[in-house]
Amino acid sequence: MAKNIYFFGSGKGEADASMRNLLGGKGANLAEMTNLGVPVPAGFTISTEMCLDYYKNGRKLSDELLAEIKENIVKTEKAMGMKFNDAENPLLFSVRSGARVSMPGMMDTVLNLGLNDTTIKGLVAKSGNERFAYDSYRRFINMYGDVVMDVHHEYFEEKITAMKKARGVENDTDLSAADLKELVEQYKVVVKEHAGKAFPDDGFEQLKMAVAAVFSSWEVPRAVKYRKMNNIDDSWGTAVNVQAMVFGNMGETSGTGVAFTRNPSTGENLFYGEFLMNAQGEDVVAGIRTPQEISELEKIMPVCYKQLVDIYKKLEKHYKDMQDMEFTIQEGVLYMLQTRSGKRTAAAAVRCAVEMFKEGLIDKETALNRVAPTQLDMLLHPNISPNAKLTVIAKGLPASPGAAVGKCSFTAEDAEERKAKGEQVILVRQETSPEDIGGMDAAEGILTARGGMTSHAAVVARGMGKPCVAGCAAIDINEKAQTVTIAGKKYGPNDFITLNGTTGEVVAGKVELTTPTLSGDFGVLMGWTDEFRTLNIRTNADTPHDAKVARDFGAEGIGLCRTEHMFFEGDRIKAVREMILSEDLEGRKAALAKLLPIQKGDFKGIFEVMDGLAVTIRLLDPPLHEFVPHTPEAQADMAKEMGISAEAVKTRVDQLHEFNPMLGHRGCRLGITYPEIYDMQVEAIITAAVEVAKAGKKVIPEIMIPLVGMLPEFKILKANAVKIADEIIAKANIKLDYKVGTMIEIPRATLIADQIAEHAEFFSFGTNDLTQMTLGFSRDDAGVFLPEYVERQILPDDPFQSIDQEGVGMLVQYGVERGRKTNPTLKIGVCGEHGGDPKSIEFFHNAGLSYVSCSPFRVPIARLAAAQAAIKSKKKTKIDVNVGLLKSKQSVKA
Ligand code: ADP
Ligand code: MG
Ligand code: MG
Repeated sequence: MAKNIYFFGSGKGEADASMRNLLGGKGANLAEMTNLGVPVPAGFTISTEMCLDYYKNGRKLSDELLAEIKENIVKTEKAMGMKFNDAENPLLFSVRSGARVSMPGMMDTVLNLGLNDTTIKGLVAKSGNERFAYDSYRRFINMYGDVVMDVHHEYFEEKITAMKKARGVENDTDLSAADLKELVEQYKVVVKEHAGKAFPDDGFEQLKMAVAAVFSSWEVPRAVKYRKMNNIDDSWGTAVNVQAMVFGNMGETSGTGVAFTRNPSTGENLFYGEFLMNAQGEDVVAGIRTPQEISELEKIMPVCYKQLVDIYKKLEKHYKDMQDMEFTIQEGVLYMLQTRSGKRTAAAAVRCAVEMFKEGLIDKETALNRVAPTQLDMLLHPNISPNAKLTVIAKGLPASPGAAVGKCSFTAEDAEERKAKGEQVILVRQETSPEDIGGMDAAEGILTARGGMTSHAAVVARGMGKPCVAGCAAIDINEKAQTVTIAGKKYGPNDFITLNGTTGEVVAGKVELTTPTLSGDFGVLMGWTDEFRTLNIRTNADTPHDAKVARDFGAEGIGLCRTEHMFFEGDRIKAVREMILSEDLEGRKAALAKLLPIQKGDFKGIFEVMDGLAVTIRLLDPPLHEFVPHTPEAQADMAKEMGISAEAVKTRVDQLHEFNPMLGHRGCRLGITYPEIYDMQVEAIITAAVEVAKAGKKVIPEIMIPLVGMLPEFKILKANAVKIADEIIAKANIKLDYKVGTMIEIPRATLIADQIAEHAEFFSFGTNDLTQMTLGFSRDDAGVFLPEYVERQILPDDPFQSIDQEGVGMLVQYGVERGRKTNPTLKIGVCGEHGGDPKSIEFFHNAGLSYVSCSPFRVPIARLAAAQAAIKSKKKTKIDVNVGLLKSKQSVKA
């Protein structure tokens, strides 16, 4: 018989941490902890395969599985010395979900399962604590009713609220045993009323239905949405953990908590966490009562605290990673209920990685792999400017660092809608729940009135890398009126607030934010990337400022400087327009003469900043029509400027109109028909280079010809450029090396790359255009259908964000192979959005490119992604690009 269930009790069990795919993260780690001798209540894990089976059987548990469950109940009874469904010594269960990847709070848990009017007597007698027993019972009916029988939590909440009101008390804990007993009866009526059937009495019946409900919870909308947001495969399924209950609500020597081996927000190596005395698990996370800091536990229960410290150290050392743990203390006895690698902010990820390496816990490769490249984005995100004048209006917990500015939004839906309209909002909630994740994702930051550092809002915000201030009791939210009152002032949907998630401060209005630098641990980690990566990282920069920013982030050159971006600055556009609108060569030359010194000045600024590094400058690329005036007023202005009639201007503009400009008269086609434009640009580049070189800097200019599809295009334009450049250099009487190369962005160019490489000194794949032309998708129009293509998995990703590996990627590979065949040392790079996308970077690494070029703020991300790609491919014995390709194709489905 196949094994579908794995038992964990004490000592070496049937499973371990390596079985995550089969048993889910929670189950595998419960087994591992047991193997390590950490105290864990006994139980068993039903494999993820049974979840798939459950769906295959039309949402039914097979008889075989039920028999196996029964066997494992017996094993658990033995391990715990208790009996399920027993009137004297009743064993109760928790039934918990647990997928391969943790999805906190997304799927359901049922606690205290096994209680009924008979077993409750045993629980009362055994604990000698009637209040505790009935508290557990009412929680059970509530949770089970909600999760398994679809009775909304609100109906139970109404009853307990009414009861508290009737008794004149505020907290659940103030209700007496008799009150709770009465509540149990009321809850049963609630179930009967809303579910249309009685609450099930038999323990096994309860268990069967609960297991099925956990399997079903894999498909609830919020779990589906979470998976989509986090790229988790829908076909994995969840495991179910059935585990003996231990009780944190047995009185003042019992409690429950959540702890991290290091601070998940900052990464500081300090035990960190929260707990509540006399409470059951859910209470801490739900933010119902505000918990105490873990250090307080040392005072209340020193022995347990010491044991917990020993355990956390053992677990961290064993897993060699920061752990996020759940524990419960039952009458002074400590139990661990969960451990997993802790979700952390980017700052914490970097600090933990660097410090764990320094502590000798992990090696550098592991440290580099501990930080997700895209996560770094957050470290490159704004903080409140130190010079900003602040009006701090409230202070909450610093739950997730960074600063956020936005208008107040009071529901998740509203936040999503307004984000879609391009607004920046801060989600302001009493507390958040799993239903709010869409809105949290849409918001710039999250502010809650209740909950601690491990509340839902805090955990999810940290996972998303969003600033969050939690538990800010000083704010008064009126969701209906859509206002929040802070320090006596009302803020509505149109009012800005600023959050500082690093300090917990809430600030009035819109505050100026600044971008941080590569300092401290971040700088150290970035330094390590350079020891591993073989890809060079360049940047796309059009101005000295951007070039400087990128260089400070570690850029090793400019891979793409777009000359035309300079054309729009200030008054320059007039000269550009004059050049375009001129009817003859003379007129164009006169206008170009005006542009020459301006372009030269721009290039000088960039060369100075990039002293010692290569700068690739692309000659004019876009169709001329993009630069000309389109409104009658602007055309009249231009006519006056040039001393011609408005009619003449309009005629010329109309002449330039193209039906499909992206496939029209642009790129090197302009250079062929109007050679004087490229001549001017080459002159500006080389004279700038000569002047900066003469001033003692090292200048490495690379002239790049765009949109080449046919060899003669390149040969003609290269000859023109070389003639002008060599003349200038000879006249200046200095030695200056420059290169002339081409963009490879027309599919045809990849096919004749061997021919082009005989003449070109470098290639740069323009993957934006290459994608447009290979897929036949206009980048500007594909937004209409692309989301559906990705949703329905017609394409694995948006091909403009992550390279289409099996299509465009193949052309890149082919171009590299052909190019290097005739020119083995050919330098080949990539410019375009893909140069900053980690998945694409791995592909480019495997394809043997020399460098990628990306926007300045993505340079650190690219450095890390390139290092990770190098580490990964080093681990494979043989680098076979085609195997790499196959693998990545499979991983889309896996
Ligand atoms: P989640 O994945 O949402 O964290 P869990 O399955 O870990 O859900 O459980 C939810 C809560 O129930 C947690 O606070 C946990 O500590 C508590 N819990 C789970 N199993 C037990 C148990 N055997 N005894 C006591 N409390 C439990
Ligand atoms: Mg948990
Ligand atoms: Mg292009």
